[in-house]
Amino acid sequence: MRAATFREYGGPEVMRWEQLDDPACGRDEVIVRARACGLNHSDLDSRAGSSRWPFTMPWVLGAEFAGTVVAVGADVGGIADGDPVTAYQQFACGSCAACARWRPDLCQRFVVFGTDRWGGYAELVAVPARAVIPLRSPDDFVTAAAAQCVVSTAWSMVVSVAAVHAGETVLVPSASGGVAGAAVQAARLSGARVIASVGAPEKSDAVRALGADVVFCYRDTPVAEAVAEATGGRGVDAVIDTTGGPRFGEHLAAMAPDGRLVTCGAHAGEVVPLDIIELFRHGHRILGFRVATPDEIRASLAMALDGAIVVPVDRTFSTAEAAAAHAYMDERKHVGKIVLVSA
Ligand SMILES: [Zn+2]
Repeated sequence: MRAATFREYGGPEVMRWEQLDDPACGRDEVIVRARACGLNHSDLDSRAGSSRWPFTMPWVLGAEFAGTVVAVGADVGGIADGDPVTAYQQFACGSCAACARWRPDLCQRFVVFGTDRWGGYAELVAVPARAVIPLRSPDDFVTAAAAQCVVSTAWSMVVSVAAVHAGETVLVPSASGGVAGAAVQAARLSGARVIASVGAPEKSDAVRALGADVVFCYRDTPVAEAVAEATGGRGVDAVIDTTGGPRFGEHLAAMAPDGRLVTCGAHAGEVVPLDIIELFRHGHRILGFRVATPDEIRASLAMALDGAIVVPVDRTFSTAEAAAAHAYMDERKHVGKIVLVSA
């Protein structure tokens, strides 16, 4: 097979398109011909050598991919040659103590495609049968490769971690981002009213189109002022925060008593000031999102494939052009997912 690989850490130019041996199909595995593979920021860290993860070279990235089954192991049932499928980007070992307690999300030996084993930047991927998720048709490939991480993260944060219910009001900061944009839609699907912030006024229309009821630019209007005006001074019931950074305290302070702030990212800053007195005075809770469960991932994929939650695709590249795709992602001008595709 051919694959986009790297054999040394460095800039996008270390990615090469090269011939490798085809993966062997284990008895409990299938071989998938990958047709679409989503890029993630962590791919850039892996390639640059800044992920702290020790890769063996050459390495094949690609956590989220979809394609057609082309070989089926001897012990595999219910999956046939030609089936359109995707795979859990990370799957539990099935045998550790956490897995035995029906908590695969707490598995001590998670396997992540593109990190623990070769992923979807290749023509062929070996996939354990228990990691396979069936799709309806090849029309689903690009959406499935784009949506799994973004939608399942947003859905789990809104529905499971923040436990948002109908009639509540949710604040989504920097809502033009991938997970945040999906969180706007997930909160709306949950029956909540959504207040969203953006960093630039020209992004407002796109966020409003996702279903946000109120959109404000945090560079023009302080968070406290915008939220007070939108909620009659009451505050929001939950914040779905993907940014961290200097506004973390403002987001926390924008919550009504018993408010829940869920965090999953910190591109705007990893260490934030926290007034503990305010936290317990209002009964606020700060909650970390860790991973989505398999059930949440399947539900999220179904919503993305049905169009209930839309994940915009900014641009596609041929898998052979993975270096160009990485360089493009490094520019950080994209809005939506970047997806590698192959014929
Ligand atoms: Zn396990």
